Amino acid sequence: MTQSDLPTIISMNSFQSEPAALKHAMQSAVNRVIESGWYVLGYEGIEFERIWASRCALDHAIGVGNGMDAIEIILRSLGIGEGDEVITTPMTAFATVLAILRSGATPVLADIDQATGHISLESVQRCLTKKTKAIIYVHLYGQIGPMDLWAKFCNQNNVLLIEDCAQAHLATLNGKVAGSYGIAGAYSFYPTKNLGALGDGGMIVTNDHSIDVLSRQLRNYGQSIRYHHPVIGMNSRLDEIQAAILIERNKWLDQFTESRRDIAQQYITSFTNTKIRLLAPPSERSEHVYHLFVILSRERDRLSEYLAQRQIQSLIHYPVPIHLQESCKDIKCDPAGLGNAEEYAQTCLSLPCHPQMQPNDVSRVIKAINEFK
Ligand SMILES: *Cc1c(COP(=O)(O)O)cnc(C)c1O
Repeated sequence: MTQSDLPTIISMNSFQSEPAALKHAMQSAVNRVIESGWYVLGYEGIEFERIWASRCALDHAIGVGNGMDAIEIILRSLGIGEGDEVITTPMTAFATVLAILRSGATPVLADIDQATGHISLESVQRCLTKKTKAIIYVHLYGQIGPMDLWAKFCNQNNVLLIEDCAQAHLATLNGKVAGSYGIAGAYSFYPTKNLGALGDGGMIVTNDHSIDVLSRQLRNYGQSIRYHHPVIGMNSRLDEIQAAILIERNKWLDQFTESRRDIAQQYITSFTNTKIRLLAPPSERSEHVYHLFVILSRERDRLSEYLAQRQIQSLIHYPVPIHLQESCKDIKCDPAGLGNAEEYAQTCLSLPCHPQMQPNDVSRVIKAINEFK
C-alpha cells in the first residue's frame, strides 16, 4: 500500500478540524483581550467565573492556573496539610496525587471498582484512620460517581468530600452537576479536556464562603488587599486570554458533549467482539460526558497495535497506577493491596471519542473493533 492508499488517521483529538465559527470567535476573543490592555485578573476572568459558577449552580467559582493547583488550593483553603491524610484513587492523572503531596498532606490510595474504574467504597473504608481529613473522588473518564452515597459516607465518617472534576465537565446526577456534591470541586481546562483552553487553566467551584475568600488569596501570593499578605500563597491565576477563550468555547460545550454521547452510544450498541469488555454504563445519559471512551481487553497491547495499523489512535488511561510510579514507591495504600487497579492498568484502552469525529470515523472504529481476532 502506498501512503495515499492509507485511510486518514483517526486521532484521540482533532482541534484543527473544529468549526470555523469557533476558531473565528476565539480569534476575536484574543483580540478583545489584546485591545483591553489588561491581561491578568480582569474582566474576562470575572465573567468566566460567573458563567462557570452559574453552569454548576454554585455560589462561587475561582479561576486558577490549572486543575492540579485547583486541588492543592482547595486542600490548603480547608487547612489540610502536614499530618493529615487524604484518600484517593491510584487510577487517575498523576496530578490528583501530586496536588495532595504539594499541600503537605499524606495521600492514601484505595483500590478501584473493576466495573467502572472508579475508587471503591469498600477499599476506602479500610483506608480510614484518625488522620483522614478528606476523600478526593475522581469522576474518571467523565462519569459522575454515585455522589449521594459518597456524600453520606463522608458525612458519617466526618471527612470532607472533594471532587476532582477535571474529566467530567458538567456531568449531572439527579440534576446536580459534578463539583456540587462535596465541599468543593476542581475543574481543569487543559486543552484536551471536554472544555479546554489554548494553554493551562483551572477552576475551583464551591458554595463555601471561606474557601472562596481563602482560595482567591492563595492563588495570588496569599494577598488579601494590594501588597498585604496574611497567608503564604502561590502564583496560580487564570489569565485573561485563556478566560476569554473559555467563554467562547463554553458556548460549544453542550453540543460537543452531545456528540461525545452519541459516539459512545454507537460504540456501546455496535461492539460485538467478545475479546473486549465495556465499563458499566451510566443509568442516565446526563451522568457521563465521555471525556474518554474506555474498553477492557486481556489482549490490550495487541489490540492497540492492530488499531494503529488501521490508522486508529488509542491511548491508555492509565498504564501505571500511582503506587507503581517510581516517585511513589513508599506511598500509603489500602492494607489489602491495590490488586484491581493493577489488573485494570493491564487491560484498559481508550478509543477515539471526540466531537470532531465524522460518522465514517465512528463506523471505521466499530468495524475495526469487531474484526479484531
Ligand atoms: C487533567 C487532570 C488533572 C490535572 O489538571 P491540569 O489542568 O492538567 O493540572 C487532575 N485530575 C484529573 C483526573 C485530570 O484528568
